Amino acid sequence: MSEELSDFTSFSEGIAQGIAELGWTKPMAVQARVIPIMRTGRDLIVQAVTGSGKTGAFGLPIVELLDPDLKAVQALILAPTRELAGQIAKELKLMGTHVGIDTIAIYGGTAYGPQLEALDRGVQVIAGTPGRVLDHLGNGRMKLDKLKVMIFDEADELLSLGFWPDMKEVKTYLPPKRLTGLFSATMPERVLSLSRQFLDEPEFISLTEGGMRSPEEIEHYHYIVSAQEKDAVLARILEFEDPESAIIFCNTRDDVRFVTGYLKRRGVDADMIQGDMSQAAREQVMKRIKSGDLRYLVATDVAARGIDISDLSHVIAYAAPDSPESYLHRTGRTGRAGKKGTAISLVSGRDIGNFQYIQNANRMKIPERPIPTESDVRERIAQRYEVRLEHAVRHLTDRERELAEQRFLPVVEHLMESDEGRRELAAIVYDALTETKPKPAASAGAEADAGADPEEESGNVANTEAPQRHSGGPRRGRRRGPRR
Ligand code: AMP
Repeated sequence: MSEELSDFTSFSEGIAQGIAELGWTKPMAVQARVIPIMRTGRDLIVQAVTGSGKTGAFGLPIVELLDPDLKAVQALILAPTRELAGQIAKELKLMGTHVGIDTIAIYGGTAYGPQLEALDRGVQVIAGTPGRVLDHLGNGRMKLDKLKVMIFDEADELLSLGFWPDMKEVKTYLPPKRLTGLFSATMPERVLSLSRQFLDEPEFISLTEGGMRSPEEIEHYHYIVSAQEKDAVLARILEFEDPESAIIFCNTRDDVRFVTGYLKRRGVDADMIQGDMSQAAREQVMKRIKSGDLRYLVATDVAARGIDISDLSHVIAYAAPDSPESYLHRTGRTGRAGKKGTAISLVSGRDIGNFQYIQNANRMKIPERPIPTESDVRERIAQRYEVRLEHAVRHLTDRERELAEQRFLPVVEHLMESDEGRRELAAIVYDALTETKPKPAASAGAEADAGADPEEESGNVANTEAPQRHSGGPRRGRRRGPRR
């Protein structure tokens, strides 16, 4: 392992000046560990949270490594949000200012002019969101043939916001030889899979509690929730986490019915499997979940027994199971076939003791997470839609963009003038950018078979936010959900 950096004295005068202007006197832990490795040119994966000083950890070696006389993009940092890209660019600019290394932020929703000027002038470091970066790459205004360093910041967020297809596209522009660093607060399978695609024999550094930790097969965590608000919290967690696919385990048939009905009414793409359903109805639901046509399956342990679904991204326990073995059986339904998974448990008052026993018996510590607030959910959904919007806009031709501006800008401006118009606009955006919508009641044949309350099937989706499949934005001309 490389030695840790104990102070900043090894940096050149110009960089030291930038560090002093930032007010930093001593390297933070992540900087002490990461900077020596980046100096050797080795790829690395770093598990560190925001606030740990990670921008300095990759920023300082970047400004040190790049050639100030070469007026071309030499470092690219991809971040999940505009705010983060802006913050990174601001810090990097300060770090490099006295050694002739210039940085700009590149993200959507802002004017092209200053970004194009900076690219023409030969800016060396880009901190940006994938959508707009790809926009410039696609137009040939940005080139990466001189790229030396590529950083993915908050990689878990990049992936959970649906940037994976964009990141794969960025890869086609990257030169084969480069230093690549991946920073992420958590290390679920999709982050590790990203690292396999982009990194070469990386060093793994963890700065989270517990020191060096190798990634787990299944990520386990739980939420403490009151029995009364369990249904609402489940719906909120689905919206926030946006699982690709999940099985939601209940302990009783009544709960299975109730949870399925509740989720459907909220426009969530869920259905159930019940012991008293006909074989044909069960098979139909199974077929849908296997083909990816249905995202969430609600079931009891008994009803789920014997059904073979191997690559669910999440297993969610609506209630803690009755035995430590059942916990392992349930969670074993994710993280199969070489993929890793996530196991979430909702634990309410009377389950707490039992849940503790399950952890002790299985010799595992399942961390608690705070329940996302309404505003957390709203912000997350806004970010997801931003990604889809950028993706959609990027795939328009110049002619289409021109037409949109000439013909539709006046329509949008008119709609924006009234509350009703703004609501209509929101509905149109929802309709255009939502890939997976629940099936209409008529197609939910299994439901009628199980004797479910017909009211459960009349869920109105138009005004609710259904969780989205993060498959990288809309594809024009293709829609998964029904037209309403
Ligand atoms: P980050 O995790 O990169 O968002 O950084 C968190 C905060 O720590 C930012 O406000 C940085 O400016 C600050 N910071 C980074 N490195 C140091 C350091 N070595 N000493 C003091 N503050 C730092």
